[in-house]
Amino acid sequence: MSDTSRLMTDEALQRCSSCTDCSLAETRQTVVIARGNTEAPLMVIGEAPGAREDATGQPFVGRSGLALDRLLKEVGFDLERDVYICNAVKCRPPKNRRPKRSELAACRPWLDLQLDLVNPEVIVLAGATAVEAILQIKGGMSQLRGRWQSWNQRAVMPVFHPSYLLRNPSSDPGAPLDLTRADFSAVRRRLCER
Ligand code: SF4
Repeated sequence: MSDTSRLMTDEALQRCSSCTDCSLAETRQTVVIARGNTEAPLMVIGEAPGAREDATGQPFVGRSGLALDRLLKEVGFDLERDVYICNAVKCRPPKNRRPKRSELAACRPWLDLQLDLVNPEVIVLAGATAVEAILQIKGGMSQLRGRWQSWNQRAVMPVFHPSYLLRNPSSDPGAPLDLTRADFSAVRRRLCER
């Protein structure tokens, strides 16, 4: 993408902060767009902002975000340089319910702009909602996680959502945390081998 195109895409994305294209606009405090590097090789897509994200305008800054950051750092990613983090839906659903299909569809143009802007080599989909949003696959994360997928000529890795890991904190071999470490290690290896 040329510098001019990048600038235009970035400007278009900033309009997201005043979006009212679905009913989540009525209850949100802040539109939560992204954090990280817009030129990162890795893009992590989660579900939707929670309370802390809604209050701060930053994605993945609560306990789930700390868990995600820890996993990324453990396998060697520099959070400022290597990663761009966002959600499939940019406004907090009331009571942290799952986003509806109509809300995912309404928010998709913003996600597409982010994908255009960052043009990541690898995408990590954190949780079933992100998998549904990008791959249009519905299913249990136990079956989906850890298996490379392809989307628009990009490598895609579904992983457990960090909030699931907080509810299942065991470090035993084969437990969700252990499996997710292995998934992020596979992502790191893939990017190091390129
Ligand atoms: S969730 Fe997305 S589509 Fe809905 S109001 Fe927020 S930014 Fe707009």
